[in-house]
Parts: sequence; structure tokens; C-alpha cells
Amino acid sequence: MSKPGEGVGRRLIHINTSDRGGGVAEILNNVTRHDESRDFQSGWIVVDAPDDFYTVTKGLHHLFHGYGDTAVLSEGARIYRDVLHEVSRLLESEIRQDDILVLHDPQTLGLAVWAAQRGVPVYWHCHIGTIRSPAHVTDALWDFFAHDLRAVDAALVTEPRFLQGAQISRVLIVHPAIDPDAPKNVPLDTADVAEYLQTIGTNATTSTVGPAGRVWQDGPVPVDAPVVPQVSRWDPLKGIRDVLRVVERLDSRAHVVVAGPDPAEVLDDPEGVDQLNEALQQLRALPAQVRGRVHLIALSAQDRDLNALRVNALQRRADVIVQRSVEEGFGLTVTEAMFKAKPVVATRTGGIPRQIEDRFNGLLVEPGDDEAFIVAVNELVTDAKLRAELGAAAESSVRKGYLIDRLIRDYDLLRK
Ligand code: UDP
Repeated sequence: MSKPGEGVGRRLIHINTSDRGGGVAEILNNVTRHDESRDFQSGWIVVDAPDDFYTVTKGLHHLFHGYGDTAVLSEGARIYRDVLHEVSRLLESEIRQDDILVLHDPQTLGLAVWAAQRGVPVYWHCHIGTIRSPAHVTDALWDFFAHDLRAVDAALVTEPRFLQGAQISRVLIVHPAIDPDAPKNVPLDTADVAEYLQTIGTNATTSTVGPAGRVWQDGPVPVDAPVVPQVSRWDPLKGIRDVLRVVERLDSRAHVVVAGPDPAEVLDDPEGVDQLNEALQQLRALPAQVRGRVHLIALSAQDRDLNALRVNALQRRADVIVQRSVEEGFGLTVTEAMFKAKPVVATRTGGIPRQIEDRFNGLLVEPGDDEAFIVAVNELVTDAKLRAELGAAAESSVRKGYLIDRLIRDYDLLRK
């Protein structure tokens, strides 16, 4: 467990289960960096837990998106509660009476009752959800978390409908945001981009392994080829298999890059390794001439800033960025792509349609609709004017609504 920052004043302490590889880690990294730079007291505690805890919380994550088996709620209850009880014991000496806690996602929600009993204000920031969940799944989830939800002062969420049916005293709408000055988004010139891509290995003639990560490919990404990346964790809900399934029918000039964090490093996501292996099997099954246009990348995040710069470079090298998620709480990768003035083809699911208005600042397709996805990507690959128009509108929408200053102000309201 990492330690909260020291200092005087009322501290806002964020608690989650991973310091890398996903949207929550991205947000907390940026928020706590900003707080430090303006002398605000804040802290970020990353909970360490045994693997079976993460197997349970991954099951919860899927249930929040309407997938998986509710049996995890009964079978996993004991490990979930026991581990968080142990975590709360360790937190006893770290948390002060005048601290404010923000618990992120279901992984840490189970700390709410302990915090409330200590008289510490506690908020739950829920980054995930769906409006399509079967009623029996949401009922079972809200039942499982009933005491925890009653203990929180408020839930923070992007889409209040994600919490439909839950008994929570207050729901505040807080949208995620990106930091334009963070390594993930700082401007990079063409030479920087080429250099970072070279360190990843996308210009190599074969698969590579290096400090930047692992690349599986039959050949390089040609300098002048249109590049179509999807950046996401190796998760069944990210639609990676849907992207790889249709590569053969995408414009034959386009090179598809699927990049995600090295799953061996993302400890709270136990499915990552299997999902990456599934993607590799799909890659190997492609006909040779199609396989040559596909590049799978597992990026190391041992050095968080370098990882971010490499993702930044991949996004900037892109001509069209795709996000074929089956479900998506918000989709920071979409925000990051739009901020870089890239045209995005993404699915109309979860938080994505909040960001993209179809044909105004990107293209939306239904999850699982291969035809629409192929037509949309191919249209953008061939139409430079449309790419530029959608990209410009995309950048300006992110600048209006999804920059970090706004999120910092939202969190500051909790300190009042
Ligand atoms: N990401 C990263 N390194 C990687 C792959 C992904 O930092 O190697 C980041 C990505 O840039 C984005 C976040 O992980 O900021 C993913 O957030 P998103 O909301 O898209 O999805 P989540 O993983 O939270 O479901």
C-alpha cells in the first residue's frame, strides 16, 4: 500500500487498486500532481491485495457493465470483505480525522462503512457502468453494496443512469478529464513521434521485445501508411477481438495497431494475460498478407512518463483512432485521441456518445456492427478533408469540457 502525502490542511485522499494501465490511474496521477504543484494536500493510496481479491473485483467490474455471473457476489463476498477489512486496519494509522476519502470504483467501495464509522467524510467515485444491465444484475449489485452505499456522503459519476436503482443519498456528476500538460498529451513533433515509435519497435522488421514493451508483427509500420490504432487494456469489453476480426476488410493500405499496457504489470486485472493471448491467436490466424498490416503492442509502464509519451506518440502517428468497446464507462482513450485532433470511430456505448456526436466530432457505430465500423474507418482513411474537419471539432470539444482544471475544481468542492 502506498502512503498518502504528508502536510498540513485538509487532505483529499484517493484510494484505488492500480497505479498504471487504466483510466483511474491516469486521472489520479494527474490530479495528485496538480494538487502538489499548488500546495494542496492530497494523497493517493494504491491498495495491494492478493490475486483472488482481483479475480472477485474483476467479476464485479463485469457485473457493473451487465456481463458475467452474479455468483461472484456470493462466492467472492468473503474474500472481498476480508481483504478490505485488512486494508482498513492498515489505513487506521494513515488516515486523519479531518481527511476526506474518495474511493474509486467497486474495488474500494467496501471501505466506506469503516470510513463513515470513523467519522471521515467518504465519497465513492464510480467510473464504470452501463444503462443496459439486466435488472437482476443491478438489483444483486445494489444489494451487495447496500451498506457501503448508505455510508457514502455522495457518489460521483459521469452518467447518473449508471446508478439507477441504487440507494445513495446524493449523486454528483463529475466527468473525467485529461491533462494537456501531462506526458500523455504534450505536443510532440514528427521527429519526437518517430523516435518514440522507434523505441517501441513498430519500425522493426519482426516482432521485438525491449524496455518499452513487446511488439508482435510480421513487418514494420511503413512511414507513409495510414495508421489505425486502438489503445486499451486487454479486456473483453474493449472490443479488441472485434477490431481484429475485420482487419481483412479494412482499406488495404491501413495498418492496424492494437496497443495496451503489459498485462503482467497490471496486477488488478487478472484477465489481461488471457485476453492478450487471445488477440495473439487471432493475429496468427490471419492470412499472411493481412497479418503484415497488424501490430500488437504490450507497453511497459515501469516508467510511467515514458509509457505515457509512447502512447502519446502512437496516438499522434494515427490517421484514424478506433475504440470498439462493447461497454465503456467514459473512455479516456477517446478523449486523448480527440484532444490530438484525430478523427475517432467509436462505439455508441457508455460514456462515448457523451464525447462524440456522430459526424460532428467523430463517427459512432453500434457495438458489434462490423459493416458500419468498416465503412466508417474506410471512409476516414480515404477522406483527408473529413478527417481534418472531425479532428478539429473533436479537439475543440475536449478543450471545452474535459480538461483537468475542471476536474480539479470538481474535487475541490468536496473539501468545502
Ligand atoms: N493507457 C496507458 N498506457 C498504456 C495503455 C493505456 O497509460 O499502455 C491509458 C490510456 O492512455 C488511458 C487509460 O489508460 O488514459 C485508459 O482509460 P480508459 O478510460 O480509456 O479505459 P479504462 O482502462 O479505464 O477502462
